[in-house]
Amino acid sequence: MQLLDGKALAAKIETTVVSGVKELKDKTGLVPGLAVILVGQDPASAEYVSMKKKACDRVGFYSVTHEMPSDISQAAIENTIKMMNNNPNIDGILIQLPLPKHIDTTKLLELVEPSKDVDGFHPYNVGRMVSNLDAFLPATPFGVMRMFQEYGIELSGKNVVVIGSSDIVGKPMASLLINAKATVTVCNSRTKDLKAHTLAADIVVIAVGVPLLLKADMVKDGAIIIDVGINRLDTGKLVGDADFESLKEKCSHLTPVPGGVGPMTIGMLLKNTIKAAKLREKRETK
Ligand code: NAD
Repeated sequence: MQLLDGKALAAKIETTVVSGVKELKDKTGLVPGLAVILVGQDPASAEYVSMKKKACDRVGFYSVTHEMPSDISQAAIENTIKMMNNNPNIDGILIQLPLPKHIDTTKLLELVEPSKDVDGFHPYNVGRMVSNLDAFLPATPFGVMRMFQEYGIELSGKNVVVIGSSDIVGKPMASLLINAKATVTVCNSRTKDLKAHTLAADIVVIAVGVPLLLKADMVKDGAIIIDVGINRLDTGKLVGDADFESLKEKCSHLTPVPGGVGPMTIGMLLKNTIKAAKLREKRETK
């Protein structure tokens, strides 16, 4: 079984981002800037934001985190987004999800200036992605596609099952796979016989948030498994949505958790942010 090492690949991507930052700075004096909006006290969200901030520091980005209490008003978050849209030092804006229930998330995502939408969640970028046009791609599925590329995994003509159909992982993952000419099936919590689908898959991408849901008896010999899930058990241990221990004997390629898709998500966010900075530089020098 070949382990798909997201940690090593993300480190490689960071190195290219570091050179990109240096080149941009030397040429134009610009430093890429990322603004993160973090609402409430959810420990997982706080941890993800802290990891993103550390990654920005490592590659030499300017970054700012707007921390807001969980009872913050919709209007106050909207004002912060508008400020960041107009701030010339900010190239990328990221709203850490999920947000508290009283907040209209869709409205906020639509307010982000599409050229600063480094999470790729604005309908403008979603539409362009679906149409296979240049766009900011959502970092997690973008990272999975980069892993396929790195490990020479051919997608054209393959049967791929995506388990989970969220706007941030499952749906964009399916779009990118369709654009790569895979035959894609998307399953969700209402899918009648999940195993029947996964047994027919050459590749399974699972993003559901259910610890160890995908077991060895659900996949065929030599399948490729991408585990997007990150679940913390009561014991404190981090596990994915796939049962690594049983699957490692059966599949040909497998991502570990941690150290698989997670670091790739951060790597692709950095990539999107430097892309946004370069596009700004291009616009300003026109
Ligand atoms: P979500 O809750 O928004 O969506 C979950 C999806 O899984 C839904 O479509 C639901 O119908 C489906 N689902 C739930 N139970 C199922 C079941 N038993 N069988 C089939 N489908 C089922 O979740 P999300 O935001 O897409 O995140 C999914 C997982 O991925 C979580 O563990 C999350 O922490 C993780 N995640 C990881 C990264 C990363 O960087 N690695 C990024 C985002 C999310």
